Amino acid sequence: SHYLSVIDSNKHLNAFLEVFADEAAARARQLDQDRNNGKPLGKLHGVVVGLKDVIAYKGHKLSASSKILEGFTSIYNATAVDRLLQEGAIIIGRQNCDEFAMGSSNENSAYGNVLNAADNKRVPGGSSGGSAVAVQAGMCMISLGSDTGGSVRQPADFCGIVGLKPTYGRVSRYGLIAYASSFDQIGIFAKSVADAALTLEVIAGEDDFDSTASKEPVVPYSSLLNSSNYNGAAPKKIGYFKEALEHPGLDPAISQSFNQFLKTLTAQGYIVEPIDFELLEYIVPAYYILTTAEASSNLSRFDGVKYGHRSAVPSEDLADFYKHNRSEGFGKEVKRRIMLGTFVLSAGYFDAYFTKAQQVRNILLKQTSAIFSRFDAIISPTVPTPAFELGSMNNDPIEMFLADIYTVFANLVGIPGISLPLFTHPNGMPFGVQVMTSHFSELALLRISEVFL
Ligand code: GLN
Repeated sequence: SHYLSVIDSNKHLNAFLEVFADEAAARARQLDQDRNNGKPLGKLHGVVVGLKDVIAYKGHKLSASSKILEGFTSIYNATAVDRLLQEGAIIIGRQNCDEFAMGSSNENSAYGNVLNAADNKRVPGGSSGGSAVAVQAGMCMISLGSDTGGSVRQPADFCGIVGLKPTYGRVSRYGLIAYASSFDQIGIFAKSVADAALTLEVIAGEDDFDSTASKEPVVPYSSLLNSSNYNGAAPKKIGYFKEALEHPGLDPAISQSFNQFLKTLTAQGYIVEPIDFELLEYIVPAYYILTTAEASSNLSRFDGVKYGHRSAVPSEDLADFYKHNRSEGFGKEVKRRIMLGTFVLSAGYFDAYFTKAQQVRNILLKQTSAIFSRFDAIISPTVPTPAFELGSMNNDPIEMFLADIYTVFANLVGIPGISLPLFTHPNGMPFGVQVMTSHFSELALLRISEVFL
């Protein structure tokens, strides 16, 4: 009841596309009865969770905030959703996001903008904007989002909460609408590191329905988070990308807080050293070439035949029919990316763009192993600027793309990353620090995050 009333009094933020009020209340009553009857309690007994509307929940609508999926209902649960339910979570609703998770401000949703609860003139970040704001404003305890290039960490940064993107393959993508399959990962929004650790423990792990979900055993993150019995090394050697701090778009107040943070860590006994990273200027271009290529292929399934929007305009032939359905169903940003992706994959341009970007990705992967042979963690600001005003970036998609500079690296190489809400900007907005560790080192990541926060 509490969460439903907070949702109700925050309708103007537009964080939810749909609230499952009656169903969630009935489930809460059932869980209460189970407890009274002495049934064993799940790890998330009664925890109220929201889902970014790219994650399938059986029997419920699923839209990816796109008109093309109007009227579509999921016929199965995402694996992550199944696991939440098995552990007693209550799913309270579907959350607004950028269409097909493409964007950094939630301004690309077919169902309207989401407002940042800290300042209603500003964006919440994206693409998981609704999920971030729902946790920020206390409309649910946890949200699941998706992070292809920062869509969990960046809105967490803009909203002053914790945002975790696990290692690629740590959480099954079964039931997650694909944007760029080799980058996508389900992530977690929470108010604390402990809540993120517990949720990860529940949703992570191998899955017969997703061959890219890793068989690497799941660590009991929540019990080892603060455990003094834990024998694993705590991260001590921390690197930062020197070039990232020289980035011309980096806000001076964020730069100052971050540099101060590096000094504090040194004073606390951490070894803090710069890492040379000459490839910095290539990572955003490589990211947008590869993700648009994958998106153009993934989104070809939305043709209005099997499901989704079907145009009322009479068609002459099949190509014409697809054209009408897709032109009406997709929004501007999604179309831009389908066209970019189709272009970089086309004969004559494939080698110049796609192959080149794959080469950059491979070099980055090699450099990443070299970095983690010297360092336990990499830190950076999460985003170069605090949350910007609604509408202020609309004329320049490239400018918006460039703001992903610190987050896309983790997705290109598949490592885990977290945004921790550590600071407040002189303009009153929260912002964070991003920490990244090596593949499947979520425990180390969460432990160091707990210390930092
Ligand atoms: N802003 C990035 C993009 O638009 C990240 C999106 C995401 O992580 N889903 O692609």
